[in-house]
Amino acid sequence: MLSSVPFLAALFLVGGVAGRTASLWCCWCLDGVRYTGLIRCAGCGTRIPLRRQLTSTIVPAKCRVCGTRDVFWPLMTMILAGLLFAGFGWLLVFQGCQSVAEVRPASPLWQGRLPFHLTFLFLMLTATLTDLLDYTIPDAVVGIGTLIAIAGATASGELQMIHIWVSWDDTMVSLYGPYLPEWMKQHQHLHGLAWTTAGLTAGAGLMWIVRVTAGGILGYPAVGLGDVTLMAMIGAFMGWQPVLCVLAIAPVGGIVIGTLIRVITGRSFVAFGPYLTFAALLVLCSWNLLWERLELRDIFSHGPTVAGMTAAALGVLCVVLTGIRIFRTLPTDVMKR
Ligand SMILES: [Zn+2]
Repeated sequence: MLSSVPFLAALFLVGGVAGRTASLWCCWCLDGVRYTGLIRCAGCGTRIPLRRQLTSTIVPAKCRVCGTRDVFWPLMTMILAGLLFAGFGWLLVFQGCQSVAEVRPASPLWQGRLPFHLTFLFLMLTATLTDLLDYTIPDAVVGIGTLIAIAGATASGELQMIHIWVSWDDTMVSLYGPYLPEWMKQHQHLHGLAWTTAGLTAGAGLMWIVRVTAGGILGYPAVGLGDVTLMAMIGAFMGWQPVLCVLAIAPVGGIVIGTLIRVITGRSFVAFGPYLTFAALLVLCSWNLLWERLELRDIFSHGPTVAGMTAAALGVLCVVLTGIRIFRTLPTDVMKR
């Protein structure tokens, strides 16, 4: 059994390094578009030396040319990423937040799925930073991420949160447990490739439908191409059942937070990526709850129900988007009354 305190402290440190790397990668991606600090001064755009790229805000300094102070967000990102890595590791390894009866990998979770999902968190963090700073999600981040997901899932063969298909729709299930097709057990690498491809297709495909629908109803591209590629990566890391949960949760969070921001500040928050990554994080941390205790396994083992609920969710989305269109035409001071 792992000792929890040194393990979580190590995860916090790894998270800090990951947060710094994500910040630097984000600034490299945005270089030439805007001065975000860290590799160029946020005030005058003077290139910052490599040593100070690694230490700025931890060791505060001013720009030698214009006197602008270091930006503060990279330090916040390091602390946040440290807490995120330690918190997720604790939930996964010690609280069994992803443990479900059907999936029993041969190697312990901290050797396999933990590094896989921490890599995923690092990539989502980078994409969230670029989306927050510049409303873009770089192809390099999600492209590399998707390749890592496919390669990892195929090479390992036991990184799935859930198998590509689990049938609970059977009278014998209470006696023998869920039915698993024989090929899944004998060809676990092929199954790895199958579930990651299914997740990628579901994530990107459904987000593409949302993009086309939203563009048609709202009359402007509300959902960017970056959101589609981001959902491809999220699907490739999580599989198709969790990615459907992400798509169901993200708009709810987006509408609640988006409405609050609009009513309080009078501004509309257009980036959709952060809601997607936040929803993905929620699903990663509550998979056991969703699958077993809320019994989503019954829904996901019945094809017609899955198809019907996906269609219904897309229908609800169309209604919501129409609502947003009416909502946006209202002057802000009317809503504040
Ligand atoms: Zn400067």
